[in-house]
Amino acid sequence: MTAQLIDGKQVAAKLRQDIAGRVAGLSFQPGLVVVLVGEDPASQVYVKAKDRAAREAGLAARTIRLPEETTQAELLAVVEGLNQDDAVDGILVQFPVPKQISQRAVILAIDPAKDVDGLHPENVGRLVDGSARLVACTPTGAMKLLAETGVSLSGKRALVLGRSMLVGKPIAQLLLAQDATVTMVHSRTLNLADECRRAEVIVAAIGKPEFVRGAWISEGAVVIDVGINRLPDGRLVGDVAFDEAKAVAKAITPVPGGVGPMTIACLLENTLIAGLARRGL
Ligand code: NAP
Repeated sequence: MTAQLIDGKQVAAKLRQDIAGRVAGLSFQPGLVVVLVGEDPASQVYVKAKDRAAREAGLAARTIRLPEETTQAELLAVVEGLNQDDAVDGILVQFPVPKQISQRAVILAIDPAKDVDGLHPENVGRLVDGSARLVACTPTGAMKLLAETGVSLSGKRALVLGRSMLVGKPIAQLLLAQDATVTMVHSRTLNLADECRRAEVIVAAIGKPEFVRGAWISEGAVVIDVGINRLPDGRLVGDVAFDEAKAVAKAITPVPGGVGPMTIACLLENTLIAGLARRGL
């Protein structure tokens, strides 16, 4: 079997086009503000890409750049200003933040109604209690790619590798909400390969290059690879050994070009969702 490739670039492009169409038909312009503290080169690239994508979708996008030595109090004051600004629908503080600032303090400071990263405990709680409003972008994107396969998740054995608040935990909740039978594995799991072999759906988010081998994947499984790892030779690879996996899986996302492009598209969608919800639309 050679797996169907789930083309994240194509799905993301279509979603971005849909969002642009919906934004064009609104009587207001949803606003997204991205806050970047410091000079981290990877963050600079991400922030530029988010800003450009937001503008292309017709959002009112703005990036606030703060110096590396910004204090927590200064950053929280900026966030509070954005919370109070009616023209701002979405606030995203790019992580990681410099070490003098607590990431948790930042997450807690953002108005949950504007929390387009979906990391505030109120939004996490809503996801768990079935009243989700703003859900983290990468997990949402991963689920949209799963939906592309047309495979019903109801009753399926789904395995999530990784239990971070950013990826693993929200994905497990989203799978559960679609009636999958969900198992989560992490760095303390024993017999991880056996857990993989039992799974009909595998979502890998551990940040270990090509960790999941083809021999661990059951024939016909669907594989969503969230991992993005740079090898010493400069290549980007996922958490799954792609060439091995594609020989046994029914469908698989490539890296790059899988979940990655979906994250920004879902950020735009979250900004639209926040803008509509804040106006009671
Ligand atoms: P993270 O916060 O570092 O969490 C990694 C998780 O993987 C932890 O739960 C950890 O277990 C588990 N883990 C680590 N080594 C393991 C092993 N050998 N066996 C089993 N589990 C192991 O990472 P993250 O933020 O969730 O990101 C995961 C990956 O997704 C990274 O490659 C990251 O670059 C990528 N990512 C991609 C996007 C995107 O846009 N596509 C967005 C975010 C992240 P413990 O909890 O036991 O430590």
